[in-house]
Amino acid sequence: MQINSELCLGCAKCIKFCPMKAIEMENKKAIINQTLCAECGVCHRLAVCETNAFIPCVELPWPRSLRSIFSDPVTIFQETGCSGRGTEEMKTNDVTNRFKDTKYVGIAVDVGRPNVGCSLKDVEKITRVLALLGVEFEKLNPISYLMKDFNTGDLIEEVLDEKVISCVIEVLVPIANVPEVVDELKEVAKDIDTVFSIGIICKVEKDLSIPVIPILEQRGYFVKPSAKTNIGLGKRI
Ligand code: SF4
Ligand code: SF4
Repeated sequence: MQINSELCLGCAKCIKFCPMKAIEMENKKAIINQTLCAECGVCHRLAVCETNAFIPCVELPWPRSLRSIFSDPVTIFQETGCSGRGTEEMKTNDVTNRFKDTKYVGIAVDVGRPNVGCSLKDVEKITRVLALLGVEFEKLNPISYLMKDFNTGDLIEEVLDEKVISCVIEVLVPIANVPEVVDELKEVAKDIDTVFSIGIICKVEKDLSIPVIPILEQRGYFVKPSAKTNIGLGKRI
């Protein structure tokens, strides 16, 4: 994102709308700190500037374009055909039977938040830990597309300096391995400069019990379940 300084009146009204605190005042004009800007498009979309001084880049160069792919909900990731940070699966809830049966769970690591963001260097620290644990990375996830090796969790070097508002790492693991994965994620949290949350996606048993809950509780974790019901619409058989 850029600001046309000739149109800027220096009113500073736009500053509070930026989720990355990237708009700054310099010589009574608003400027955008390009290191902090995640290309989310909020400043332009909200039309808070009465002179329309914000200029979105029509086509961002690679790898800066990743900022927009992960941070602007209207940008489509060409490879997956999906907008935003995750996969179609995350939004529509197990239409592909990805989570197989109750012997497997999906884990979604939701990295970064507005006002904090996350660097892809920090994301790589998490994917490396997950790779060492032998998880199966979801191939349609945008972060998986940036990985050069699923066995090491390494991302391609040229993307590591990019910063986005947030992203989701999606993996599949055998249910018995969940405590170990959560333990290791807790360890790597000490070494990264952002926040993340962990979502564990688990099918329920026929008696409606949730098998992953006792496994995690035994390890001392507090689990707060929430549920979605897929009644079969759009579900592949
Ligand atoms: S709202 Fe527009 S005119 Fe006001 S500081 Fe921001 S860019 Fe400049
Ligand atoms: S595009 Fe987003 S991050 Fe960049 S200046 Fe505008 S609101 Fe801030």
